[in-house]
Amino acid sequence: MVRDVTENLPPDSPRDVVGILEDFDALKSSQPSLPGPQCGVTAALDSIVAASPELAVPLRERVASSAYPALGVAEILSKRSGQRVSAYTVRRHRKRGTSSGCRCTR
Ligand SMILES: [Zn+2]
Repeated sequence: MVRDVTENLPPDSPRDVVGILEDFDALKSSQPSLPGPQCGVTAALDSIVAASPELAVPLRERVASSAYPALGVAEILSKRSGQRVSAYTVRRHRKRGTSSGCRCTR
């Protein structure tokens, strides 16, 4: 097989890089970086807090605290919101914003 030796060489004239910025711009507009989906904990909390806004702060404090077992928190959130939340999701939510956490904001 004969390889094209010009394939991986750097451009040897300015003409070869004309339009490179437009190439980048096209990439950006065609693939907007969307935020990740909110996790089940935030979805459940949002639905509960929508019904009782005064619960927002104390509920978020409890969900974030390791003093409350993740499995129990998951069960309560699932039961009260009608949305399935797993203990794994609660643990991930507690590490949100880190490489092993969810993408919810702190
Ligand atoms: Zn989360």
